Amino acid sequence: MTVGAEGCFSCANNDRFDELPASELVATDEHWRVARAINTALPGWLVLVPRRHVTTLAELTDAEAAGLGLWQIRLSRALHAVTGCVKTYVVQFAEAAGFAHVHFHVVPRPPELPEELRGPRVFGLLGRPEAEHVPAGLADELAGRLRAHLLAQA
Ligand SMILES: [Zn+2]
Repeated sequence: MTVGAEGCFSCANNDRFDELPASELVATDEHWRVARAINTALPGWLVLVPRRHVTTLAELTDAEAAGLGLWQIRLSRALHAVTGCVKTYVVQFAEAAGFAHVHFHVVPRPPELPEELRGPRVFGLLGRPEAEHVPAGLADELAGRLRAHLLAQA
């Protein structure tokens, strides 16, 4: 683990890139990695993570920034195609302990999502108890379909 990245969830995964499970490697390029969100009750919730430790958007290089826009739109297209969502939310805070590494949540908003869980309130579906998590089988199936869709677009 690199200096300054101690205790960083994303760096711990970036550092074992070649051994990552499919859930942590939905898609990737030289600057970015796409993972399935952990501890969520919403199927299809993705996270877009830089391949190096940065804690603010201002630290991203022009090359990383150039890919960022493309990833956000490609992931949104894939989520529309695979989950049937009506829009996607893109959110970056990086405030939770252990998660200061910049990461963009790319969240499918299903048509049936209750009003009280729309907009920023969708974070009520993250950090849920294990019994409410998206079942591993469904999560893996969605990740596989998203990966296939992204490869077809690339
Ligand atoms: Zn990091």
